[in-house]
Amino acid sequence: MPFNVDLTNCDREPIHIPGQIQPYGFLIAIDNDFIIRYHSENVSDLIPGLPSLLLGKELSEVEYALSPNEPMGFISQLITFGKTTKSFEQINPFQLELDGKSYYMIIHHSDGLFVLEFEPATAETTTDMQRMIGRSISEMLADKNLQNLLNNSAEQVKKVIGYDRVMVYRFAADGHGEVVAEARNEDLESWLGLHYPASDIPKQARELYKINRTRIIADVNSNPSKIVTLASGEPQPLDLTCSQLRAVSPIHIQYLKNMGVASSFSISLMYKNELWGLIACHNYTPRYIDYKARESSKLIGQILSSALEFRQDEENQQLQDQLFASVEKLSKQMQRSNSLEDALTGDEVSILDVTYADGAILTYEGNTFKFGKVPNDDQLAGLLQWIKTDVTDTFFCTDHLSDKYAPALTYKDVASGIIVSAISKEMGEYMIWFKPEQLKQITWAGNPDKPAEIDNNGLLTLSPRTSFEAWAETVTGRSATWSNEEIKAVIRLKEELTYAINQKASAIRQLNEKLKQAYEELDTFSFTISHDLKNPISVIKSYAQLLTRDASIRPEALRVIDRIVDRADKMNHMINEVLDYSRIGRSEIDFMDVKIGPMVNDIIKDLSLVYDTTKLNVTIGETPVVKGDPVMLLQVFANLLSNAIKYSQRADPQQISIEGKATETGILYQIKDNGLGIDIKQLPRIFELFNRTDNVKDIEGSGVGLAIVKRIVEKHRGKIWVDSELGKGSTFYVEFSNPA
Ligand code: ADP
Repeated sequence: MPFNVDLTNCDREPIHIPGQIQPYGFLIAIDNDFIIRYHSENVSDLIPGLPSLLLGKELSEVEYALSPNEPMGFISQLITFGKTTKSFEQINPFQLELDGKSYYMIIHHSDGLFVLEFEPATAETTTDMQRMIGRSISEMLADKNLQNLLNNSAEQVKKVIGYDRVMVYRFAADGHGEVVAEARNEDLESWLGLHYPASDIPKQARELYKINRTRIIADVNSNPSKIVTLASGEPQPLDLTCSQLRAVSPIHIQYLKNMGVASSFSISLMYKNELWGLIACHNYTPRYIDYKARESSKLIGQILSSALEFRQDEENQQLQDQLFASVEKLSKQMQRSNSLEDALTGDEVSILDVTYADGAILTYEGNTFKFGKVPNDDQLAGLLQWIKTDVTDTFFCTDHLSDKYAPALTYKDVASGIIVSAISKEMGEYMIWFKPEQLKQITWAGNPDKPAEIDNNGLLTLSPRTSFEAWAETVTGRSATWSNEEIKAVIRLKEELTYAINQKASAIRQLNEKLKQAYEELDTFSFTISHDLKNPISVIKSYAQLLTRDASIRPEALRVIDRIVDRADKMNHMINEVLDYSRIGRSEIDFMDVKIGPMVNDIIKDLSLVYDTTKLNVTIGETPVVKGDPVMLLQVFANLLSNAIKYSQRADPQQISIEGKATETGILYQIKDNGLGIDIKQLPRIFELFNRTDNVKDIEGSGVGLAIVKRIVEKHRGKIWVDSELGKGSTFYVEFSNPA
């Protein structure tokens, strides 16, 4: 059954067995016994004197016509030689004179058969070819830059084969192609930058390009010559994978015709054994180039391939170095800076420089930092939510985001491709890079409004412009791919970031540890100092008091001595307080039930000896029992109540209240006064040691009391806070947890 090829199945078309050849040459295939099994129908047209059917004949029977100037049996001997050396490389091409014309015979092996192809040898291309190629190659390699190398190669190939248009065509990972360099006659429009869908050069064609490194289509308008065979019924077609003359797929012929191309020639470009691209050459009139010229071009292709391998590796390395240099800088910034986000969002280098993305964001510790082109806030919120719930890996990368997350289609011009690197999934902290839809960046060189050349359907619509449009559809919502270099740089940055975060975390742990130590040392220090100070101060006081016994002392001096005694007392008092404070840190609590009611009564009684209580009105409410250390609890209530009375002295009447109640978590006491109140700005600091507010400067106090209270309460695993309004009064709350 012949294969009927159309646009829907051309990727399955068996193009290696077309059953026909291009008619500029002819073909004969013989078996191991030198019997002719296949030949092209055009043999007798090209070689007068040969019968039109050669099938079944021995090669020796037709050799008189195929190699009239050679000794009899010469071709058979060549084949025998090739058979024993297992290669025809040394023989190919063998030049023959046929019917007054020069021909090349090229032999290859196919499925147990020997295929002999005869094609014209054209004199013009052999002249000085060697020298020309040598010059071309040195010019080609003159430039180090990959793009210049490609441009030079296109120029040189054009010089060697004289075609109208020479393009370097590069395959992307998805199989689609792009014109990356070209050399053309001046009157032709540029096709540089055009993209073609993968189907333009289907997979099986690409496979053939890997095996056969040059391919000529001598004249798209010529009629192919059928290959006839001995076998009857449905014979096995001759495999033409390695053939020079292999006929061209009708689809491809139509494609070339629609472009106005008459001859086409291509040279395969290989990179690490894969097809990197093609040097594709078009001529608008038939232009045949013979085997030797094709081989010379093949040499250019091979040299370009190895240069490519080298330059591509070099260029990849450069890209990698560049991106890694940014990672390195960021890493240094992270080491230097206390804030990771400052380091990652610096002016000189930011996370955006780690890839070739157009935009990037960093979400860290509740903030979002944006660089370059990124989706708007709503879009980002949705995307981040999706990433949090649907992206399980800590690294995620796509060049077709809308395929996975449909809402992204609305902002494909910003984020068709993303890389997500999770700093902490739990905290929703990420680094994300964005690439726009690729199509945006590609411009059609000609007039985009010009209608496609032929408006019919099927084969006739095939043309580069319609191909471009077809390709454009396939890349909607797709970004340029993320290169290995970019991915590696992102992974490296993540490693550096993790390292920096860990370092900072352990730095914080270490700081905490140091702080604890310093705190303990300070406690011991203040305890020792206070303790040691007590003695000399007592001595000062005693000597001062001794002086007062001296009758000769003047009254003014006596007043000064009184002040010394008074100050010494005050100092003693302060030292006792500091001692108390540091003692709390050092002592263990022995929890017991403490009755607060009687304690409060005693305190009030004591305080009334110190303060004027004529206007004082004290309300004592419920006083539930508190579990704790009785001496420490006495300090708490004595301090709070004395403050309440002390700082409300000027109120008339003076209203003080205290009451406690059980809550879900423990016992809550509140001590309320209608005194001076505390400025809201100073509230947060009143529990600090030696801290006094501005409005109490003329009232006696050391600023130690509340610090002691707080320390005791916390030691009891309780809480203390205050509610106050300047000029109106204050309420202190103390909540004791109720340990079982
Ligand atoms: P002091 O010995 O100064 O009273 P405290 O540690 O007991 O030290 O209190 C610290 C500061 O808090 C006081 O100097 C005062 O400014 C403020 N303060 C404490 N209690 C009251 C209160 N009931 N009313 C107004 N201000 C208060």
